Amino acid sequence: MTGGQTDIAIVGGGLAGGLTALAIHRVNPRLSVALFEAGDSFGGNHRWSWFEGDLDERGTELLGAFKKAEWSGGNEVRFPSYTRQLASNYRSLDSRDFDEGMRRALPQESIRPGSRVAGLDAAGITLDTGERIAARAVIDCRDAVPSEHLTGGWQVFLGQHLRTDAPHGLARPVIMDASVEQPDAYRFVYLLPLGHDEIFVEDTYYSDSPALDRECLRERISTYARDKGWACEVVHEETGVLPVITGGDFAAYRAELSTPGVALSGARGGFVHPLTSYTLPIAVDNALAIAEAASGDLSQLAGAVEERAQQHWSQTAYYRLLGKMLFDAALPRERYRVFERFYRLPEPLITRFYAARSSPMDKLRILTGRPPVAIGRAVKALLGKGTPLVQGTEP
Ligand SMILES: Cc1cc2nc3c(=O)[nH]c(=O)nc-3n(C[C@H](O)[C@H](O)[C@H](O)COP(=O)(O)OP(=O)(O)OC[C@H]3O[C@@H](n4cnc5c(N)ncnc54)[C@H](O)[C@@H]3O)c2cc1C
Repeated sequence: MTGGQTDIAIVGGGLAGGLTALAIHRVNPRLSVALFEAGDSFGGNHRWSWFEGDLDERGTELLGAFKKAEWSGGNEVRFPSYTRQLASNYRSLDSRDFDEGMRRALPQESIRPGSRVAGLDAAGITLDTGERIAARAVIDCRDAVPSEHLTGGWQVFLGQHLRTDAPHGLARPVIMDASVEQPDAYRFVYLLPLGHDEIFVEDTYYSDSPALDRECLRERISTYARDKGWACEVVHEETGVLPVITGGDFAAYRAELSTPGVALSGARGGFVHPLTSYTLPIAVDNALAIAEAASGDLSQLAGAVEERAQQHWSQTAYYRLLGKMLFDAALPRERYRVFERFYRLPEPLITRFYAARSSPMDKLRILTGRPPVAIGRAVKALLGKGTPLVQGTEP
């Protein structure tokens, strides 16, 4: 980027914006890209995880730019009535490693941390300092915001990286330990063994409310660790309050956030798995598709991303329906039964579910058999409007 001008300006250096900048640079090194991030580092304070099979070869290659935690011994889930070991291998990327990888992989002039964008349009962006940078294409990857046009519930969590004073003995990631007490939400503990004496423990809730009681969750993690016999200190902490989308008017949602001629991408653009709230595999696919589209006419980029967003919304309708059953048909303390039943299904189906690639047969299979919720409540939920996702974010 020279003289306040760039080919592509990307606003928001989180997961989506960062991967898009990286993919464009790799596919079209001759295009100039400028990535504007309000914070001092790229990626915020997150740990993103995914199953190995969620990504194809190109996606895996794109993430080759980053140092990651990788487990090859499968994963595990725990419910009150059973524990199951699954074969899918798991991966995890810490945002500090994301930041480091971005700075290594992109030219110095492409990365602009500490740059808050105050205004954007199809012809460029304006920083809060008043600096104007003209661009041939602008991609908006700022944070997702709550919206009255979408309905659903919330996934709230607090995760701690712990150091134990003796080996913790956990061999593989535990995606859900739902054998814990179930308060007014579907609660599970998520465990990642990061080293023989390091472990990431996250206390998660599928909750009707976005309220996050940090003290309470810290206490519950501490109790959980004590019960496992782990004496430990906290090394790092992160929190999340993510919408679980069960329905709504997607066109109205996009219209509310769109700027004419600007490509609206990332979680803000609706590129999320509606039920798990995860975005990593979707962000990778999107970054690669945008990079390819950027090889052509840049004035068509916003339209191409809009089309992808609409397609993604249509293709994920089924997960919103399941979310509706979870939030509107199951009583909070009984929500774990939905997952307990789901995890008894064949593993390839579970794998496709997490990657949001369920086949028509999978969809049928998930819904057949004795439902884990009362039929009357299920019918009422399906006919109901759902709750608008406007209760604010993290307090
Ligand atoms: C703690 C946490 C853990 C998660 N774990 C997982 C996981 O394991 N797997 C998974 O797939 N998903 C996970 N998610 C969900 C999802 O993948 C993340 O929320 C993901 O970071 C969304 O990516 P994004 O780029 O769309 O938005 P963000 O990562 O939120 O990035 C938006 C960026 O835009 C910047 N920004 C905002 N306004 C401006 C402005 N005006 N100017 C410049 N920059 C601006 C912000 O500072 C931010 O860095 C997690 C989410 C959280 C919060």
